Amino acid sequence: MNRPIYLDNQATTPPDPEVVKAMLPYFQEKFGNAASVHHSYGQEGKEAVEQGRRVMAESIQGSPREIIFTSGATEAINLALKGVAEKYIDRGQHIITQVTEHKAVLDTCNYLVRKGWKVTTLPVDSKGMVNPSHVTNAITRETVLVAIMHANNEIGTIQPVQEIGTICRQKNILFMVDACQSFGKLDLNVKSMNINLLAATAHKLYGPKGIGFLFVSQKDPKVELQIQMEGGGHERGFRSGTLAVPLIVGFARAVELSLECINKENLRLGELRDQLYSGIRVIHPEVILNGSRDKRLAHNLSLCFPGLDGETMIMKMKGIACSTGSACSSASLEPSHVIKALGRDTELAHSAIRFSLGRFNTTAEIDTAISVINRVVRDLKEKKLHRRRIHADGFE
Ligand SMILES: *Cc1c(COP(=O)(O)O)cnc(C)c1O
Repeated sequence: MNRPIYLDNQATTPPDPEVVKAMLPYFQEKFGNAASVHHSYGQEGKEAVEQGRRVMAESIQGSPREIIFTSGATEAINLALKGVAEKYIDRGQHIITQVTEHKAVLDTCNYLVRKGWKVTTLPVDSKGMVNPSHVTNAITRETVLVAIMHANNEIGTIQPVQEIGTICRQKNILFMVDACQSFGKLDLNVKSMNINLLAATAHKLYGPKGIGFLFVSQKDPKVELQIQMEGGGHERGFRSGTLAVPLIVGFARAVELSLECINKENLRLGELRDQLYSGIRVIHPEVILNGSRDKRLAHNLSLCFPGLDGETMIMKMKGIACSTGSACSSASLEPSHVIKALGRDTELAHSAIRFSLGRFNTTAEIDTAISVINRVVRDLKEKKLHRRRIHADGFE
């Protein structure tokens, strides 16, 4: 069976074959529990985990003891937000975030609101960008934490985290960054960016699903966290549960591979993205680009197709796999909260489609994708025109 061309790399990426190869021994003969330090099986596992921890730390200029492995970014974000909220409750009960965050952040903030916290959700401009001065203005004496993502998963907009980090530092407020979409794709430096908490996940950079980490600054400032998972005291007590050694090994390999080719890959994916964009635009010049033109991830192309329905389009584009927005909000009939935040009306928001490219896409695939998209768009436009004519005739 011919499988559709995969253009949904911001929902998840196919694992790199090198990643799978690195993991395999840890699913088989190297099966030891990393906490079983009294024999070579366990030691082998522990060494692999600590090696992985060093790779994560180095990739963001943190130190290994600042990395807590979790089941993914959703868990890391929950640990960061709830962990900080519970620990710093005496300092104040106010958090600042922004409207295009992932549901993992927004829903955890909603949980905290139910617990009595105040949350300020900042707006974005028409390109999806947060204005750092809005952050400054939103800070009160009660503010404990600011949570702003690095790059958006639907529209690819890159937030000014450096500026926001500086503001937070001056005001002595903790800064959390959801770096799922930028980790291994953009430069990340927790020191120069003044990031105190950072969440990342392996399956967005060609690693396995089910493994992520939370970076927690341990020095200048030392961030306190209320433990959210009781048990055997793994991860310095912050996240009990037997470590997923094979997944950590795969995650580490994925990070190494991504960092080795970060610039080359961004260049190549940017070219493929431009190829796709111009291929659609020459035939359908009315499409609207969502997100910032220059401050965006190279592999994201989010478009609104005025007058058409994104959901219908995707169903008809059998030859390609893409999505209307994030994988999470696709389940509901509501248009994406991210597209709406750009100021698009509901109808236009329903016409949004996200194409997200990845390491294994080729120029030939993009050519095929362009013809699939253009055929479907043309057919739907013709059908609409036809319906309008019948409708008009009916009134004559
Ligand atoms: C994928 C993603 C998450 C969730 O990560 P999981 O590891 O799947 O839980 C959170 N935030 C953003 C921006 C994402 O893209």
